[in-house]
Formats: sequence, structure tokens, C-alpha cells
Amino acid sequence: METIKAPRGTRDVLGGESWKWARVMDVTASTADDFGFREIMLPIFEHTELFSRGIGDTTDVVEKEMYTFTDRGGRSVTLRPELTASIMRSYLEHDMRRGPQPVKLWGWGPMFRYERPQKGRYRQFAQIDFETLGVPGPMADIEIIDLSMEIYRRLGLSNLQVVLNSVGCPKCRPAYREVLKKYFASGFDSLCDTCKSRFDRNPLRILDCKNDACRQITESAPAVTDSLCDECGAHFKAVMRGLENLGADIKLDNRLVRGLDYYTKTAYEILSGDLGAQNAVCGGGRYDNLAESIGGPHVPGVGFASGIERIVITMEAQGAYMGKEPAPFIYVVTSGGGAENEAVSLAHDLRSRGVSADLDFMGRSMKAQMKTASQANARFVCILGEDEISAGTVTVKDMSAGTQETAPRAAAIEKIEKNVSRKEELR
Ligand code: AMP
Repeated sequence: METIKAPRGTRDVLGGESWKWARVMDVTASTADDFGFREIMLPIFEHTELFSRGIGDTTDVVEKEMYTFTDRGGRSVTLRPELTASIMRSYLEHDMRRGPQPVKLWGWGPMFRYERPQKGRYRQFAQIDFETLGVPGPMADIEIIDLSMEIYRRLGLSNLQVVLNSVGCPKCRPAYREVLKKYFASGFDSLCDTCKSRFDRNPLRILDCKNDACRQITESAPAVTDSLCDECGAHFKAVMRGLENLGADIKLDNRLVRGLDYYTKTAYEILSGDLGAQNAVCGGGRYDNLAESIGGPHVPGVGFASGIERIVITMEAQGAYMGKEPAPFIYVVTSGGGAENEAVSLAHDLRSRGVSADLDFMGRSMKAQMKTASQANARFVCILGEDEISAGTVTVKDMSAGTQETAPRAAAIEKIEKNVSRKEELR
């Protein structure tokens, strides 16, 4: 029988990589605190309707990419393809409108989309996601964009480009749709099949197409920013001014429309020069009509999501500081033959004092154990040879200095414990 492999588009984040994710999560959580965002944890699956109504029936995500199934109770449920709709659902369900506004929330975890897998694009991927709910003004948009850039700054990323656009609102978008349709009608035959089908349903999405022929046509398409109503125009200018005021380097891109229907006004992405074809490390914007589309009252909102895999790929490509790979502070080495219980007891005592310790389980030779200690990057080795065991002592070897010292067990543990406070410095 063939051994079972992970499904296509999923990946195992192994021990050699998972500690890098911990750094991304630490920086994300502390930046969230500094900006006043509270973490919330939401279900991995939701009623399918939340996404079909929230994200939009004509989007790729809803049409082609959702993992939808009927549960044993006959309900249609979907593995979440993103977090924004769930966060809005939670805000409405828990009546967060009653408290002070805005409500600033963040979450993270796995998302699921049936996409064609390639580098940086998976069927299960993880996102960090931030949402500011309950305020319509541009200050929230500016804060959200600033927050996303601050996370990357703290993670040491460079070579990033913020790309900004406005997609208008239900007041000005119908007129823009008509302008676009008129424009695309003349080159209709050259559009790809997907864009032909988008022509009537959602012509804005044609702007987003990566097909070469379509891109040639969209290059000189009329800009949405020329069709904005007064309110959307003023909002867009205020966001630009606010970001300039923060010294942000922003590029305007009239073709940025994003794949989810709920966006209104601000739409933005942050692109990395180190990601290849899937170059968006972050995407977000304003979605003032999402709450109503899922049956709630009017609740304005703005937010972003960023793929953790893509953040890690960019950090690796740029040689950014990833934190320290975990290593035992102590490796306990024995001369074998009956010393196992002593070794387990020493490791137990060290661990109970908060000292990370590891040891051999396989009865290997002292030489082999020393080799493992060195490969594991242990800072000190505690040697329990025959002499030590009969004298109740421990020999502590400093792996970087190469020096060693024998002391009574209690005194040795105490000394190690003292060194732990200098753990970072000693590494
Ligand atoms: P979106 O939810 O489509 O706005 O995407 C936001 C961010 O999530 C993107 O900029 C990527 O960093 C990440 N992302 C989206 N789809 C995938 C995917 N299939 N695989 C990996 N990361 C993704």
C-alpha cells in the first residue's frame, strides 16, 4: 500500500521552520497591542451563506475556490477562505455596536481556498488579519495601512511597495461600470474567456486579470479615481495625505480592484519584490457594505490580511532576523549503564527550575551523546559519569569555552540556574 501523503496545496510546517512563524506571531501580537487591537478566535468553518453573501457570488473565491460541504445535519458549511466576514459576523452576533467605536480586532489562523498551488500559493494557508469596525472616516484607513507597514518594519522587511486605489461606493460605481463596459466593448473579442464572462457581471474584475492580452487592454482603461463621487474622492485624498504625512511611500494603481466584492473606497496591497509571481504579501481596504450584505445594519469597516507563508518566504529571501532557533540550554550526558535514572532526575530538576534540558533515550555512547549535544546547539553539557554518580557530583562543560568544572549536584544546578538569566547573552 502506498503511504498517504498530505493533500495537494497543503504543506507541513516542520520544526526547522515553525520557530520562524513564532517570531512573526510575536511581532504581530505586540504590534497589535501597541495599536490597541484585541485578538479574537473564530471558528474554522462557517455557514456557507456568510461567504457567498459577504464576499460576493461572482468572485473567484465564492465561485471556484471554497471548500464547501454538507454536514451530517444537512447544513451547508464552508471552511473559511478569509477572516473578514467572520469577524464582521462576530461583531454583529455579539452586538459590539453597543460599546465604544471603533472596535479593533485581530485574528490569525488557517484559511482554505481551492486554488492552483504554486510558490506562495496554497490551498491551506495562514493569515494574520486586522479589522477596524464602526468608523467611516479616513483616519481608520490610515491607521490600518500604517499598522500593516509597521509589522513588516518590525520584522525587518524591505523592498516592499504599498499600492493604493479607491474602488468607489455603490453611489459612484454603477457609473464607472458603464464607462468601463463602454471601453471594454471595443476590445471585447481580445479578452480572455474569464474576462468575457466578467464583462456583464463584474467588469471591474477585468482590470485585475493577469492575462497578457487583457493587460494590454486594461493598461489604458479609464481610471476609477476619475469617476469617484465627491465623498469617495475626498476620502481617497484624505487617505493619501495622511499616509504622506507619515512619510509612507505609496504608489497609486488604478487597476487595483482586489478579488473580493465587499471593498468600498480604499483598496490596497503591499507587494514584495522577493516573492515571484504571487507577489502580494498583504491585501486590504474598506468594506462599508459588508455588514448589510450579511443581514446586519450599516457598519463601516476597514482591514487587511497578510499571508504568514509569504511573510516567512520574504523574510528568508531578505535574510531578515528570524529570532533564535530553539536549542536546549543543557544536554545531559551519561556514561550509560544504570545512569539513566540519574539523568532523568537531573533533567527533571533543571526543567522544573525553568532550564531547558534534553537527554539521550537510546543508551548511546558518551561520544555519540556529546555529538548530539553539539548538533543540538546545547550551551552546556552536564556529564554524569561513573565518578560523578558515586560522588553525587555533576561535571558541567561550557560548550563554547570548552572548559569544564565538577561540583556537587545542588551547587551545579544553582550555578546553571544563575546562568539562565544570562541565557541570551550566553548564546
Ligand atoms: P486576500 O484575502 O485574497 O485579500 O489575501 C490577503 C493575503 O493573503 C495575500 O496578500 C497573501 O499574502 C495571502 N494569501 C491569499 N491567498 C493565498 C494563498 N492561496 N496562499 C498563500 N497566501 C495567500
